[in-house]
Amino acid sequence: MEHFRSVHNFIPGPSSPTSFPSIKISISMIITMAKNVSLGKAIVFDGVDDSLFNFCQACCDTALGTSLCPECVRRTAVMMELIDPLYWEHERSSRHFDCRLICLNKKHPDIPLVEEYRPLVVCSPVVKFL
Ligand SMILES: [Zn+2]
Repeated sequence: MEHFRSVHNFIPGPSSPTSFPSIKISISMIITMAKNVSLGKAIVFDGVDDSLFNFCQACCDTALGTSLCPECVRRTAVMMELIDPLYWEHERSSRHFDCRLICLNKKHPDIPLVEEYRPLVVCSPVVKFL
């Protein structure tokens, strides 16, 4: 662990909390933002699966949100909540910023030395969406 600490620079966060901005966004912009979230990634502590951001092909093919199926309407409603400033005032929203460190063994199947691990940080798809 000392090795990982030595290769990371500590970057302090903001000295005081900042509010989530109030933004007006259209359904078509939500769909565009969701399409930019890469899928099939590891899950993190908030438990949000990236499939939330995966619209069905039929809805993707329509004119960006003019008529969505019930499932895509539900997903859009969740995403709209994610951009609501009230959501980010709740303490539980901070769980989306808890990332997971995965140490890949570059010498698999051998046992690696400390410098033969590749550290990866896995973030919530919510962070990627925003
Ligand atoms: Zn759909």
